[in-house]
Amino acid sequence: MLEIKNISKSYHVGTFNQQALKKVSLAFRETEFVSVLGPSGCGKTTLLNMIGGLDHFDEGDLIINGKSTKDFTDREWDMYRNNSIGFIFQSHNLIPHLSVLQNVEMGMSLSGMSAAEAKERAMEVLDQVGLADHVNKRPTQLSGGQSQRVAVARAIANYPDVILADEPTGSLDTETGKQIMDLIKEIAKDKLVIMVTHDGEMAREYASRIIKLKDGETIDDSNPYAFDTDEKSGFSLKKTAMDFRTAVVSSINNIKTKLGRTVLTAFAGSIGIIGIALILSLSNGLSEEIDYFEQETMAGFPISVTGSRFDFEKLREMSEEDIPEYPDTDYATAFDQDRFKALLEPNIITDDYVNYVDDYVENIAPENVAGVKYGRKMNVSLLKEQDFNGSSAYVPVHSESIDEEEDQNPGTVMGFSQSFFTLLPDGDVMDNNYDVIYGEFPDQKNEVVLVVDSYNRIYESTLQRLGYDPESQDRFYFSEIVNNIEFKLFMGEYSVGVSDVSEAVDITISGIVRPREDTEVSVFSNGLGYTSALMDDLYENYPDDVGEVSSIHIYPTNFDAKQDIREYLDEYNEGLSDEERIEYIDQAATFTAMVGGIIDTISIVLIAFAAISLVVSSIMIAIITYISVIERTKEIGVLRALGARKKDISRVFNTENLIIGFVAGLVGISIARLLIIPANMIIENLSDMANVAKLSWYHSGLLIVISIVLAFVAGLIPARMAANKDPVEALRTE
Ligand code: ADP
Ligand code: MG
Repeated sequence: MLEIKNISKSYHVGTFNQQALKKVSLAFRETEFVSVLGPSGCGKTTLLNMIGGLDHFDEGDLIINGKSTKDFTDREWDMYRNNSIGFIFQSHNLIPHLSVLQNVEMGMSLSGMSAAEAKERAMEVLDQVGLADHVNKRPTQLSGGQSQRVAVARAIANYPDVILADEPTGSLDTETGKQIMDLIKEIAKDKLVIMVTHDGEMAREYASRIIKLKDGETIDDSNPYAFDTDEKSGFSLKKTAMDFRTAVVSSINNIKTKLGRTVLTAFAGSIGIIGIALILSLSNGLSEEIDYFEQETMAGFPISVTGSRFDFEKLREMSEEDIPEYPDTDYATAFDQDRFKALLEPNIITDDYVNYVDDYVENIAPENVAGVKYGRKMNVSLLKEQDFNGSSAYVPVHSESIDEEEDQNPGTVMGFSQSFFTLLPDGDVMDNNYDVIYGEFPDQKNEVVLVVDSYNRIYESTLQRLGYDPESQDRFYFSEIVNNIEFKLFMGEYSVGVSDVSEAVDITISGIVRPREDTEVSVFSNGLGYTSALMDDLYENYPDDVGEVSSIHIYPTNFDAKQDIREYLDEYNEGLSDEERIEYIDQAATFTAMVGGIIDTISIVLIAFAAISLVVSSIMIAIITYISVIERTKEIGVLRALGARKKDISRVFNTENLIIGFVAGLVGISIARLLIIPANMIIENLSDMANVAKLSWYHSGLLIVISIVLAFVAGLIPARMAANKDPVEALRTE
């Protein structure tokens, strides 16, 4: 049934060519005990490996049941080894991290036998070899004889037709060797046994046929068999594959035997995960905190539409002055405002737009609007008392007109004016963006504030209106301005000597305000600011002198309402040209978008750093897998001899890395979750924000998946290396 025809095999070592087999032809009976006898190095092992399909011959053919194996694929050789051949090696070759039982089960698992069936069969053969009581031991806990019995049990477990034994007693003492020989003879009496030995006495005692080999050639055959090649019988091979369960069991067992190393690997692998998890939890927590802040605290900030809009790019370039910002002085300096005019673009509020807003406020969604404020153009003159040769008189220092052209009077920016006299924003917006650096904020309608820029500067034109001469003076003390400089407000055009000064209202400067250092929205302004209380009063009492809307502040009721208002205002601009567009400013959003942006940037940078540690741990996993492959070379050979495919070998290592990656991810997430507790305590101490760092389940899961994938990818190349190892060489390694 089995025949080799003219098989030759040579090994090349450097330039040296070692011919291990020279045109060997042999035919075997279905049942016989063949002993191949010859001195060391004559080619016995090579012959067995050829018959067992572990190694490929250079020339000749192996014929199984009349079928040539010339066209056998790797896959078919794997199946052949698994289904038809049982190997017994000189050095037991048990897999050290599997139990006796699992060692015996392996070949059957590979051929797809169910776990229960495989176990039953393994118990049966272990009982046959007299090891029923030792099934749960590890190979290292067995004596040499016992180990070889396990090897015998493993060889016969999967019902092979052929048992190939390579000096099975070589590593045993004479007595034990005899027992093993008896066992083989007994167990394989209905099989073809081909046993290789250099012990002629043993060959004569057990074998029914002795073939003598010398220098790779058969020199004697005691009982040759004339095989009829034409005789064909059914020959089919069952597919082999390692199922996932077997791979996992094998991996877990191996991990267990190298627990210390595995734990260290997983821990090292988890460090990158810990880093990323912490950064993610912090940045998420902070973003949530900001959203919350925006929703709860800043929802009341208005959406403002003002008469002009900033070119923020130009502003940024310009604001890089080299004099100290936010000086701690008690005086102001002069500044030529024309430089800033270039920053402003008109944002002309049309009647159409006012109606559009009114429609929303009154009809579409009144519930979204807590209040709406219109700043209006006014016919107004500011009068200041001036000395004329000993006597004093009120002269207009500033007048505004309803009819004035927009570009002559650019109006307000974020509630503040480029012009001299402007409406102040209300409540929170004022408080959050401006500091009162001297005096007090107006608490009466006829009080105003003087606004300086972040360098404590006042426009030259403003200074002149205040009665100063910016050419001859360079410090303008707050104490001289506040509650000291008085104006009169006259509705309408004032002509000296014609208009009646007694109709004018007294105006006092109650304080100096300056944009806050941490404000990101209202960056500059200059002149006098009046409150909406004064505006309302004037509108009521002098309706004819108060005209078109020049600014709109819409106060939303809550965060969602604000989103809705914004969408509504955005719709207005759809399809409009740049000049026609009317832009609004959402102060809260500008602020939070910026902070959110900073947090995102910082997070990305930190995650990039943490990712480096992930790369390092991946490389480490690759190295450890590589070491593991080298350590387990023999096991690879054994598995291949049992019929494992290349794929199955890489699967063993891949499964192990999947497990390590999973454990690393799990350990990383657990440690990160633990570290979040003290981290939150520290943050709460520093900032009063409780439970900022939070790790979502989504991110936890994602990081575990990343860890698994990285470990898997890192091990792919070493695992592939393992799969490609030559089984014969793998078995030869010690
Ligand atoms: P035996 O089992 O009879 O001791 P082998 O079959 O192992 O002999 O080896 C036969 C010859 O082939 C020996 O000379 C050995 O050195 C050589 N040989 C076997 N395997 C290899 C190999 N992988 N590379 C080089 N030479 C080899
Ligand atoms: Mg040998």
